[in-house]
Amino acid sequence: MHEFAITQNIVEIATEHAEGAAVRRISLEIGQLTAIMPDAIAFCFDVCAQGTLLEGATLEIIQRPGRGQCQDCGREIPLEQPFGVCDCGCTHLTIIQGEELTIKELETEALCA
Ligand SMILES: [Zn+2]
Repeated sequence: MHEFAITQNIVEIATEHAEGAAVRRISLEIGQLTAIMPDAIAFCFDVCAQGTLLEGATLEIIQRPGRGQCQDCGREIPLEQPFGVCDCGCTHLTIIQGEELTIKELETEALCA
């Protein structure tokens, strides 16, 4: 299950960004073409977050649909897989959206000065 390694990575990055503050909410953007299962990420998150600043944080996952652009006619088409066929019959598509895996937002507890 590669989602476990991905989630661990996310927790590590988020921990660095949180700079010692407890994380209340984390929001991830996952492209549909990444083949990452949001459910699996959510499942791993509880385990990976244990004992870190992210323990108890709300995990929000936003799925970004895939989009490709035809290299022949320039048309943009929705993609459910990292390949496809344009209406013009061309299969040379450039993926322009859907391969991202990013931490979009990180909400932390305010640190008292
Ligand atoms: Zn085309």
